[in-house]
Amino acid sequence: MNKKRQAIWDKSGGKCWYCGSDLPEKGWHADHFEPIQRNWWDGTCEHPELDTEDNKVPACASCNLNKHSMPLESWRKIIQGYVFSLNRDSTQYRLAKRYGLIQETDVKVTFWFEKHGCEEGKPFSEE
Ligand SMILES: [Zn+2]
Repeated sequence: MNKKRQAIWDKSGGKCWYCGSDLPEKGWHADHFEPIQRNWWDGTCEHPELDTEDNKVPACASCNLNKHSMPLESWRKIIQGYVFSLNRDSTQYRLAKRYGLIQETDVKVTFWFEKHGCEEGKPFSEE
């Protein structure tokens, strides 16, 4: 791992900034915490000033791809709505729920860095 990636990895000690899963040594993403909104047509971005090391956090591929270029609060609402859309759209989900395999809660989506008292984009330090 090069020095820049190592510094990003160290912000969480190898956890996904959002879901908290252990990151694999290969295949984790450096996410722009505040989205830079890259243009699909030519790879340029709407907010090049946010393309800094301070704004990059370690993320698992699923979180990074799912967050895409959404601001955090928009993404939180999307995740919060997944139970609703699963109930609406997935026969398998509804059936699994009916058989007691799934128990819904009304917990609020809380990201790993929020539970661990990290400030936005600031390195995580162990006590
Ligand atoms: Zn994740």
